[in-house]
Amino acid sequence: NSFMELNLSRPLLRACEKLGYTKPTPIQAACIPLALNGRDICGSAITGSGKTAAFALPTLERLLFRPKRVPAIRVLVLTPARELAVQVHSMIEKLAQFTDIRCCLVVGGLSLKAQEAALRSMPDIVVATPGRIIDHLRNSISVDLEDLAVLILDEADRLLEVGFSAEIRELIRVCPKRRQTMLFSATMTEEVDELVKLSLTKPVRLSA
Ligand code: AMP
Repeated sequence: NSFMELNLSRPLLRACEKLGYTKPTPIQAACIPLALNGRDICGSAITGSGKTAAFALPTLERLLFRPKRVPAIRVLVLTPARELAVQVHSMIEKLAQFTDIRCCLVVGGLSLKAQEAALRSMPDIVVATPGRIIDHLRNSISVDLEDLAVLILDEADRLLEVGFSAEIRELIRVCPKRRQTMLFSATMTEEVDELVKLSLTKPVRLSA
C-alpha cells in the first residue's frame, strides 16, 4: 500500500515524498484509483482524513496526463470558507510544486482587481468560495469555465449551511455538463443528497 502503486506520475510522487507522506490514507487509497478512472465521487470524509490530497492528486494527474491545448481554467474547487480555501490552495500548491500547474485563490477580502487579473491569466486550478467567484461571474467576463474538466465541492454540508445553495446551483449551471465532479462532506444530510443528485453522475460512494 504505497503511492507508487496508485499510478501517479513522478512529479506528484516526489511531492508526496517531500511532504513526508509514506502511504495513502484510507480515503486516498479508495478515491485516487476511481478518480483517475474519471468516476464521480461522493465521499463522506472529515478534515484530517487526507481528503484534500484524495481529490487533488488524481486531479493533478489528469492535468499532467491530458495537457490543454489553450490556456483555460480546468478545475474549480469550491469551499465554504476563506480559511479552508487558503488551506486547500496551499496544499494543492505543495502537491503541484514539481509541475508547471498553476493554482489561484479567489476569496473575499482580497482585491477584486488582482483576482480578476489572476483569473484572466487562465490558471489551471481555481480554489474559491462561492460568493466571490459568483461576484466575478456576474460583474465581468474574467471567469471562463467553458473548458472546466473537474468540479470539486469540498465540505458540501458546510457549503449549504452557510447559505451558498443558490450560488452553487448557479455555478453548476455554468459548468460544462461533461465533467468530473467530486463532492466531499462530513455529514450526508438530505440537502447534501439533493446536491449529489443535481451535480454528480453515477457517483461512487466512499467513506473514510
Ligand atoms: P486533510 O484531511 O486533507 O485536511 O489533511 C489533513 C492533514 O493530513 C494535512 O496536514 C495533510 O498534509 C496530511 N496528510 C494528507 N495525506 C497524508 C498522507 N498520505 N500521509 C501523511 N499525512 C497526510
